[in-house]
Amino acid sequence: MLNLSPCRDVTNWYCVTPVTLTTIMLGRVRILARCSYCEHVRTLITEHPLISHKLTALRDERTDSPTFRRLADELVTLLAYEATRSIRVEAVTVQTPVALAQGSRLSDPTPVVIPILRAGLGMLDGMTRLLPTAEVGFLGMVRDHDTLQPTTYADRIPGDLKGRQVFLLDPMLATGGTLIAAIDLMLERGANQITAICLLSAPEGIAAVEVALAGRDVDVTLVTAAVDEKLNEKGYIVPGLGDAGDRLFGVV
Ligand code: URA
Repeated sequence: MLNLSPCRDVTNWYCVTPVTLTTIMLGRVRILARCSYCEHVRTLITEHPLISHKLTALRDERTDSPTFRRLADELVTLLAYEATRSIRVEAVTVQTPVALAQGSRLSDPTPVVIPILRAGLGMLDGMTRLLPTAEVGFLGMVRDHDTLQPTTYADRIPGDLKGRQVFLLDPMLATGGTLIAAIDLMLERGANQITAICLLSAPEGIAAVEVALAGRDVDVTLVTAAVDEKLNEKGYIVPGLGDAGDRLFGVV
């Protein structure tokens, strides 16, 4: 029996206790609720016909690299719309040609967008289209084909992320190793709100992130277009879409 509670932070998001992989349909947005009343990771699976259409085309092995890149770019912009729901804004007043209007604008400091190289690069334009004033950092991580453990080979991220909202871009949340290492690095540098945007996720990866963050006072959100069935023995998401980096940029 699921114990469903409204998320304390985000309207229309829900969390369940105890931790479970069960998915719940709530109107347009399908929630995979995994946290203990939002204490660890909020996971949002966006449900939209356009997202499903583009994701299906991405999965199709006949989709060539140029089309794959375009679709990934469009998909990220759709996910980014949901992922930026908690972006910080401040109230402003502007003068329209007719009268004063109350509104809002993004607050300082600006958010930081960090694609995890190499495949995350294919998500950068789609994200910055929506957040053109964001700063961009780069994190190069590669996972060992045998151990599936990540190592960092490039770190172009501000040394001080104190108080910053960070958006991590990585198309595939597979074992979770890369994302956990990236989140740890962001937290070490002081980031206080982290949102990971992944095109596809494996249940094993979500569970690993959840376990890694359990008991820690962190604010981490995962926004993904779908959670697939499982990982295979080589660490690929099933049915997945293959190697996202290769499909974006070719085999080099
Ligand atoms: N990375 C990929 O590119 N694809 C997978 O299926 C898993 C990890």
